Amino acid sequence: MAKIRFSALQEAATRQPVERKVHGRVSEVFGCDVFTIEKMRQYLSREAFRQLERTMAEGEAMDRGLADQIAAAMKAWAVSKGATHYTHWFHPLNGATAEKHDGFIDVQENGNIIEAFDGRMLVQQEPDASSFPNGGIRNTFEARGYTAWDPGSPAFINRNTLCIPTVFVAYTGEALDYKTPMLKALALIDRAAVEVCQYFDKEVRKVIATLGWEQEYFLVDEALFNARPDLKLCGRTLMGHSSAKDQQLEDHYFGAIPERVEAFMEELEQECHRLGIPVKTRHNEVAPNQFELAPIFEEANLAVDHNQLLMSTMKRVAKHHRFRALLHEKPFKGINGSGKHNNWSLLTDTGVNLLSPGKNPKSNMQFLVFLVTTTKAVLEHEALFKACIVSLGNERRLGGDEAPPVIMSVFLGQQLDAILDEIEQKVSSRKMSPDEKTELKLNVGKIPEIMRDNTDRNRTSPFAFTGNRFEFRAVGSSANCGAAMTILNAAVAEQLTAFKQETDALIDKGVKKDEAIFQTLRRYIIACRKIRFEGNGYSREWHEEAARRGLSVDNGCIGALRAYLTPKARKLLVGMGIFTERELEARYEIKHEIYLKKLQIESRVLGDLALNHIIPTAIRYQNTLIENVRGLKEILPGMYDEVGTVQLKAIREISEHITEIRTLVDEMTEARKHANNTFADTTARAAAYAETVLPYLDRIRYRIDKLELLVDDEIWPLPKYRELLFFK
Ligand code: ADP
Ligand code: MG
Repeated sequence: MAKIRFSALQEAATRQPVERKVHGRVSEVFGCDVFTIEKMRQYLSREAFRQLERTMAEGEAMDRGLADQIAAAMKAWAVSKGATHYTHWFHPLNGATAEKHDGFIDVQENGNIIEAFDGRMLVQQEPDASSFPNGGIRNTFEARGYTAWDPGSPAFINRNTLCIPTVFVAYTGEALDYKTPMLKALALIDRAAVEVCQYFDKEVRKVIATLGWEQEYFLVDEALFNARPDLKLCGRTLMGHSSAKDQQLEDHYFGAIPERVEAFMEELEQECHRLGIPVKTRHNEVAPNQFELAPIFEEANLAVDHNQLLMSTMKRVAKHHRFRALLHEKPFKGINGSGKHNNWSLLTDTGVNLLSPGKNPKSNMQFLVFLVTTTKAVLEHEALFKACIVSLGNERRLGGDEAPPVIMSVFLGQQLDAILDEIEQKVSSRKMSPDEKTELKLNVGKIPEIMRDNTDRNRTSPFAFTGNRFEFRAVGSSANCGAAMTILNAAVAEQLTAFKQETDALIDKGVKKDEAIFQTLRRYIIACRKIRFEGNGYSREWHEEAARRGLSVDNGCIGALRAYLTPKARKLLVGMGIFTERELEARYEIKHEIYLKKLQIESRVLGDLALNHIIPTAIRYQNTLIENVRGLKEILPGMYDEVGTVQLKAIREISEHITEIRTLVDEMTEARKHANNTFADTTARAAAYAETVLPYLDRIRYRIDKLELLVDDEIWPLPKYRELLFFK
């Protein structure tokens, strides 16, 4: 067995960088595989293009005539670029992207073969919904689902297939994807933010949410990856003693990028640019073999599509370079995991970033309103913010090794904190004196200056203000950002609407607009005290303090998911029309189902590896030691007492580990059986797995990792951490 490990090591050690291709300047290749608005303009008649613009702006359904024209244009463009197939491209709830390719091929009556693609095929496709997670929504007699074009995200060509971004819903109308509810949340925040902007600027007609994700990932050499069944089947290592050296010297972060990796990054960036993904930043991350990629931010819906596309492209390009890209949140124990910071802001059609302090007191008031309502949204729905990012993988990442803690809080930075405190103290429901008002306005006016030296960067905060945006850092590296974007935008929309209503009520009572805004703001600031936290999110004191504040401190995925079904969450999500009751419950169930299945796979893989790889290896080594002891006794009877005792101790230790592993694996299997037989209901079964199966994974691993240190390196079957994590 160790043969596989050594030949993999040999292969990895002699690997050469893939030869780099010369490619065009980014300005020349950017978006060349995307059917952009510009290309639509070129390929469509003027009238059709105008009609499309109107449909997109008003979000109306598209009539068949227009759809046919767009389809014809799209086909002409795609075929001219060598595309042979088309597919609807969507985000089912398994977290991946799905596509079902159909050829453009059609047979005419006279038997001639032509390329066919019409409006019907553009607008709608009918994939079978039964093979995707559906949380009981799909009835067996109605397995169909359908996908419908989302014109907000342009079609693109991926290899030879024209991909049309779509939503995915059951035939009965319920959403089965991440995009549908997110589009609803984005529409809500547009409306709510425009209303609030009217206090400050009557010109604002539209507000979009912006998203810039930072994708962290690991690369592992292909041969080593293939020699680790746990990596192959679970995406993470289920065992492996930590390397004597890993990230303690912090010599990887921002270090020189290894040549093989650089060649990979170059090709990946090139592919991204062709697909219109504006990737910009690349660097080494903290853990060995960990990297990060970040684009220039975009409108949130498009950014989410681009992140999904990036993840699949990354995996494909990695293979080309004989790497495997690991997007799991915690592929290796004891070193940093991978996250996907979601940088989020709001942008008006007048070009104003609503989370960027402006040039005068008025625009700064606007900034403060958006800053504080966002903070309040996190306060109101802190449990839901957590529920939307938890998963089996992220559960392992959160709360350790530079990952955000499992408690939601908002970090604003010292200076803003001080401004909010000032408003809290100065404003009151009585009328302010002109002097007080002037002073307050003066201080609010100073925000841009103080922000310039706002270099505070609290790395321990899960939701931090970073100068001109909020950064939601708890999102997992493999997650579809759509889930987080749905909750964040919906929650902020709700608070903006409430802010507007409360302020209008004061104005109706005769309070002047400015003062009314200050007064509502103050109330919100006071409420937000509970969620604002500037200190060290890792500290024990914070955990105690957060519990006192009544924040959710539960760190398990299953516990956190309950937040989806609370009255508060229902009021937000069902009340605002993002989900129906049934959709919400289905999602809740699907989250459990995925957790359960992944945990079941991990548990089985670990059991197999323990019994088939680890125990036989340990026994082999133990036999060598036993032979050795026998030999010593025979040849050096005089020295036996001294040497033999040490050897016997090792033999005994190995024995103990072997016995313990065998017992634990048996118990774990029993726990699985028991959970399977006791609970027919998915959510209950998932909870039982979390409680009774999950703990065995760490306990078994602990024993295996001890054995790894004892057993002869020559016969150890699996590539070790020090081998997986370091390139030559
Ligand atoms: P850091 O690691 O310091 O947080 P990065 O440059 O890695 O910074 O990533 C910052 C991300 O934030 C980028 O994707 C960037 O485009 C994005 N970003 C910047 N401004 C905004 C904004 N107004 N809205 C959304 N995202 C933004
Ligand atoms: Mg960041």
